[in-house]
Amino acid sequence: MPELPEVETIARDVRPHLVGATLSRVRLFKSDVLRGIRPRAFLRSLEGRSVKAVTRRAKHLVILLGDGNRLIIQPRMTGSLTVERGLGSDPYAVIEADLSTGGRLRYRDVRRLGAVHLLGPDAWKRYTGRIGPEPLERSFTPARLAGALAGGVLAVKKALMDQRRLAGVGNIYANEALWRARVDPSRSARMLTPVEVRRLHQVLVAILRSAIRRRGTTVRDYRTGTGEAGEFQERLDVYGRAGQGCRRCGPRRRIALTHAIDGRATYFCPGCQH
Ligand SMILES: [Zn+2]
Repeated sequence: MPELPEVETIARDVRPHLVGATLSRVRLFKSDVLRGIRPRAFLRSLEGRSVKAVTRRAKHLVILLGDGNRLIIQPRMTGSLTVERGLGSDPYAVIEADLSTGGRLRYRDVRRLGAVHLLGPDAWKRYTGRIGPEPLERSFTPARLAGALAGGVLAVKKALMDQRRLAGVGNIYANEALWRARVDPSRSARMLTPVEVRRLHQVLVAILRSAIRRRGTTVRDYRTGTGEAGEFQERLDVYGRAGQGCRRCGPRRRIALTHAIDGRATYFCPGCQH
């Protein structure tokens, strides 16, 4: 599932082709990804619009249009956004648009679990206001992470993945960050010591940055904005490594797997994560 580094990679890949381009011949092949807008109104809102900016918020792509509306794409499990030059068709294409700069924008989604919104300025304010701080912004300090972890009784892994508390972190990077910080994922979030919070903050930011440099993690479906697989899957220390030796404790300590914390796969080392 695309998390912050994957969606950031897509945004960076498509941005140079999209910004300044005008959308034309907009096609919608499947309408079940649309949220809060009907197909006809959606197509009318995009046709002939220019693109002013392409950014990311949490795990969502944000395409700012010339009229001030924003096209929001949440790729979720199997969605991807690319700009292509070729003319080949794709059975999983959901939205396509020709670009005045020559290419073609395509949102494809194999299982169509993604969601697409078109938001005016006020709706956008409400939308972004419900999401927590961006971990790669300068204002994201250890104190802000401590704030995200405080309140309520829940496991630290669950708190990290709660988009209202913190933006963009999902199952893969929560697992990786907690292993690197040597924190047991099932620990109560608000019980972490200040030293542990600082360590978690440092490794979380470092992992997200290095995953962006390696163009994200492809476990199954994720593709970059140029249609390729990411490279960070080769760097994962704990995710997907159940039964293999811990890279800190050595080959005799095996990575454990549980679904007990949040129903998702949690990988951890019982030897070095406390
Ligand atoms: Zn270990």
